[in-house]
Amino acid sequence: MAEVANTREAGDIGVRIPSPMPWQLNQWQRLGAQWAAGRCPHALLLNGQAGLGKRRFAEAFSALLLCDQPRDGLACGECRGCQLRIAGSHPDFIRVVPEKEQGPLKVEQIRQLGEFVGRTSGREGARVVWLSPAESMNVNAANALLKNLEEPSGSVVFLLVTDSPSGLLPTIRSRCQSVAFPVPPQQAALRWLGESGVEGPAASSALALAGGAPLLAAALMEPEVQEVRDQFFGDLAALAASSANAVALAGQWDSPGDAVDLNLLLQFWQNLVGQMLKSRSTDTLNEQRVAGLLQRLPGTGPESLRPLFGFYDQLTRARQLLTGNSNPNRRLLMEELMIRWSNLFR
Ligand SMILES: [Zn+2]
Repeated sequence: MAEVANTREAGDIGVRIPSPMPWQLNQWQRLGAQWAAGRCPHALLLNGQAGLGKRRFAEAFSALLLCDQPRDGLACGECRGCQLRIAGSHPDFIRVVPEKEQGPLKVEQIRQLGEFVGRTSGREGARVVWLSPAESMNVNAANALLKNLEEPSGSVVFLLVTDSPSGLLPTIRSRCQSVAFPVPPQQAALRWLGESGVEGPAASSALALAGGAPLLAAALMEPEVQEVRDQFFGDLAALAASSANAVALAGQWDSPGDAVDLNLLLQFWQNLVGQMLKSRSTDTLNEQRVAGLLQRLPGTGPESLRPLFGFYDQLTRARQLLTGNSNPNRRLLMEELMIRWSNLFR
């Protein structure tokens, strides 16, 4: 009895019965209905910017697919299928992730899938391939996956998750049903942040910095992340004020550390530039940091913003390079960005 009581602890149920985020209900209901009607597409591409909870959605949806007796449209958390999944030993579930963080998904990893896809189910029901981040497949890996997608095996469902669908081969994209995750309405995001203990102006500003992505906003509020961010923005301000050397700083920031990766750092930067562009065009200088940087830009009028737009695009390309599989020289990438940033203020 004690054991049964334990599994009913509120926190535990969250682990046992994964559910989508509040802003994902449309996608959830649509896919859930397709699955219940036996019309679930054999490959789904869950896509949208980082920090929206796509992996949480994939977790919940794979749990649903593997559950023998779903309840209220969610996995029950109690049947044999759910127990196997919770124990991490479900024979019909395979997770394909890079061997090291930020690393590529390799062709050998995809080839190993062939065995999983080819055999018959250990149990009745779906077999699920979870693959994330899909954009980290190199061309060979993507081509190997393509073979699997071209010859779907009845009960297999591929769940591909990506923050950057443009980093995928078009042939992969075209063989998956796209499940797009847009940024949730600000109110829904703030409500969720409030429930997670992040409130007030801090929540709004983290959400703005996260480009509206609630999970990323919550992560940005972690003290160690804030520390790195503040230090980075301090250095960007120093570059704008010509009181620091771009090349020297690039060397310090090409590997920001455990709390923050380079891609996230560039995202901070890009959101900062986005805020600068917005503030100048609407003339609402809400953040001191943004206001300080804007004052340092040469010129006034709309013409003065043109280089800033160009820099925003360069940050986009840099982030695409980082999340792709071309393995760019990070030091060089950072140097180019920091030199160009400095030049914006000359
Ligand atoms: Zn179940």
